[in-house]
Amino acid sequence: MGMASYALASRDCQAQDTIVEINTSHKKIFIGEGYCTVIAGPCAVEGIEEYLAIARILQTSGVHVLRGGVFKPRTSPYSFKGLGSEGLKIISEARDITGLPVITEIMDVRDLDLLYENVDVLQIGSRNMQNFTLLEEVGKIDKPVMLKRGLSATIEEWLLAAEYILSGGNRRVILCERGIRTFEHFTRNTVDIGAVALLKQLSHLPIIVDPSHATGRWKMVSPIARAAVAAGADGIMVEVHQNPDQALSDGKQSLTPQNFDKMFKKIIQLAELDGKIIQ
Ligand code: PEP
Ligand code: MN
Repeated sequence: MGMASYALASRDCQAQDTIVEINTSHKKIFIGEGYCTVIAGPCAVEGIEEYLAIARILQTSGVHVLRGGVFKPRTSPYSFKGLGSEGLKIISEARDITGLPVITEIMDVRDLDLLYENVDVLQIGSRNMQNFTLLEEVGKIDKPVMLKRGLSATIEEWLLAAEYILSGGNRRVILCERGIRTFEHFTRNTVDIGAVALLKQLSHLPIIVDPSHATGRWKMVSPIARAAVAAGADGIMVEVHQNPDQALSDGKQSLTPQNFDKMFKKIIQLAELDGKIIQ
């Protein structure tokens, strides 16, 4: 077999697993083989009180990275699109208070400087997986990038999108499986657990699974999160909201803090069973 089209992302190029290190004021967090990293938070930052409260609750559970969207890619232009730079100040404050690293989505290259200063991991959402100019820009920086799988992207297209970032010089790329579009409509997307096992063979990059967007149903989040870790994922990213019924986005797939805590304990048990380092 010749060289893969996604040369830098492939095992041919690098046999050793990439472990992405995130430095915070309190401790280091690792994402990659041998670790199990749990990223959690609301779909979107809705307000300062709400966000700081959930950040503290999640910290008590033991979460490793906080999530919170401020620039939200919404299907309808009339839906809540996030708090923008005001929301960014809120996650940055949560980062200072908890000492936890934070991740948020970048939609526009014009926001890069602002996001670079305030967050630890940049997320490229599904809808932007093939926004090549955006990929090239995040390829030039020294910050981890989590690249979500496109809505209908093949594994090869996804790896080639990662290649855009890697070839720019940024080697801190994390893949995130979030389900793909199929004929099935009882779930929001169809989660591709097989992709997790395959990517571990094809690539050295860390792989995270997002069971929230992958299913669209909160009751499926814990079982799919566990399936992901059992299949070899390096962690999960889940949506949590204090009051899912009132959430401004993705309430149906959001766990309450209580349900999150139950799931978190099960995930850590699985990771321990697998001999992973508990952070
Ligand atoms: C998200 O994680 O905030 C998100 C919008 O997910 P996706 O890009 O996978 O739809
Ligand atoms: Mn969401």
